[in-house]
Amino acid sequence: MIGPLLKLRDVSRIYPTGGEPFRALDRISLNIDAGEMVAIIGPSGSGKSTLMNVLGCLDTPSEGDYFVAGQPTASLAPDALAQLRRNHFGFIFQRYHLLPHLDAAQNVEIPAIYAGTSASLRHERSQHLLTRLGLDDRLHHRPGQLSGGQQQRVSVARALMNGGQVILADEPTGALDSKSGEEMMGLLKELHANGHTIVLVTHDSQVAAHAERIIEMRDGRIVADRAQGSTNTVATDQPSTAHGDKGAWRALAGRTMEALRMAGFAMASHRMRTLLTMLGIIIGIAAVVSVVALGQGAQQKIISDINAMGTNIISIIPGKGWGDSRASSIHTLVPSDLDALRQQDYIDSASPSLSTSGLLRYRNRTASSSVSGVSEDFFRVRGYELEQGRIFSPAEVRQLAQLVVIDANTASTLFPGESSPVGQVILLDSLPCRVIGVTQKKDSPFGHNDNLNVWIPYTSAMGRLIGQSYFNSITVRVTDGYDNESAEKNLTQLLTRRHGSKDFYTNSSDTILKTINKTTSTMTLLIAAIAVISLVVGGIGVMNIMLVSVSERTHEIGIRMAVGARQSDIMQQFLIEAVLVCLMGGALGIGLSYLVSLIFPLFVTSITMQFTWWSIVSAVTCSTLIGILFGFLPARNAARLDPVEALSRD
Ligand code: ADP
Ligand code: MG
Repeated sequence: MIGPLLKLRDVSRIYPTGGEPFRALDRISLNIDAGEMVAIIGPSGSGKSTLMNVLGCLDTPSEGDYFVAGQPTASLAPDALAQLRRNHFGFIFQRYHLLPHLDAAQNVEIPAIYAGTSASLRHERSQHLLTRLGLDDRLHHRPGQLSGGQQQRVSVARALMNGGQVILADEPTGALDSKSGEEMMGLLKELHANGHTIVLVTHDSQVAAHAERIIEMRDGRIVADRAQGSTNTVATDQPSTAHGDKGAWRALAGRTMEALRMAGFAMASHRMRTLLTMLGIIIGIAAVVSVVALGQGAQQKIISDINAMGTNIISIIPGKGWGDSRASSIHTLVPSDLDALRQQDYIDSASPSLSTSGLLRYRNRTASSSVSGVSEDFFRVRGYELEQGRIFSPAEVRQLAQLVVIDANTASTLFPGESSPVGQVILLDSLPCRVIGVTQKKDSPFGHNDNLNVWIPYTSAMGRLIGQSYFNSITVRVTDGYDNESAEKNLTQLLTRRHGSKDFYTNSSDTILKTINKTTSTMTLLIAAIAVISLVVGGIGVMNIMLVSVSERTHEIGIRMAVGARQSDIMQQFLIEAVLVCLMGGALGIGLSYLVSLIFPLFVTSITMQFTWWSIVSAVTCSTLIGILFGFLPARNAARLDPVEALSRD
């Protein structure tokens, strides 16, 4: 190698303080060669740790240049610095800085995860290192179950995991008893003998005596730099950095697995909090999925009702359209139109209708009812089935017969308890009519119908009851196999020709179906949009808890960064956690919605909830997106933490 391994040139580290900026390092120039063992001594506050952090690329100089193996570090991005830390440096801290919820082996493996080493190689190497350090029976102990000396040996193993070409030990014996301290120094000397470059911070001169070069600091400056002992050990074998970054895909998979595992730990260690956080997502997703399922169910129900009514029906109504105020003064829909329509081969049957309301009377019972004048075809056109009796014959219609067909509601109102109304005579206002048939109960698409309906021949209605010579509407049934749309076009042409102008509009059940479809879709969308608001609120809850999680785990983030985690690794870890929370919330929400669909039929029988695959897929997508969206800010906050500051946080 050309030149020193680590080279500082006029490096200062300046902290902004309230008044005068504070120079923790003051224009330090220093070369450290590969294979050296250097001790840095000095009183507390003299800048030793600051220097150490700069050497390890955890911190960057405010002024001056720092070169690692001849490469300037000033222009390096955070991730490039992370790569240097990962592949060249190994940190040993006074207070070990192990992750408390991972066991010894898992702690040791972290640097290798970020370097992308395969799992099998990682396990093998961590076992090998821990065994070499006398911890083969402590592989699966957590830091809390280990003594200080053992924890420090675990952190040595971690420093060596990716090669540990340069070991930076900041007061490694500071928290250890003297015996463990001795062992630790023996270990560092052994590593030095094996070719590792060692930089050691201590305030203990006895510890420093183990080094071959002692640098003394005071007030951010180097006040002495002396070699001691004659043996300037030449590195026998340079430690390789063969354990550096590995293939991109496997690396990514390994890091993602690690992030997943960490997210699992985080969620499991705060179960109640996680559940409460999820609640917003659960309710939101359950609401969206249920509303959509209900909307679908309602739509299907309406469609099937309309289909039962017959999809090939066209109504002809005077006026320009719904709510035309002049419609009542248009009297052009007359019996000859009906005859003309009936002669068309695309029309199966046609029935006029003119309606009024009337008072029904039978013996001492009265009821008001809607009275419609219709033709014999009406019942076929509208799909009414008879429960009893018969309908009028064409001859009876021609003869203005005083006959009436009543519906089931009327039958039960006027003839309660009687075996059959057929054959009885009722008074329609003052017109006596004989009941000849009773229709079956029929649900309209819009729910249950309590109205009373009776039907008399339209001729009788025109001539005997209402005294009008025109119809309120004509309803036709299109011949089976005939296209609804062209039938509608043809009859419009026919009637326009007959009337001289188009003074009517048509309404086919086809169009109604389309309108209803559109309406229910709009309604569903609207309610779902409201439900989405609760999802957003849930997302904000997730963001909140993620921010808490980040600040709680700042120290952990610092440790991960020190062993070489990229910003993207930290970001990914917290994003995955947020997404996981939201996805679990989403899954629970879908489950809750399913529960609702089980309970719902107990209260409402006419509509069943219809789950569609796309509502489930969009719920899952939605919760993932919410996780990413609301996890982003906290995750970015975590990723942008300053490693040194994060490490010093507890
Ligand atoms: P040592 O490790 O030698 O005890 P440090 O390197 O930790 O000393 O600190 C050197 C000086 O820099 C101390 O006076 C300390 O108060 C100051 N210092 C360290 N970190 C910061 C910081 N983040 N902000 C302001 N001053 C700091
Ligand atoms: Mg210190």
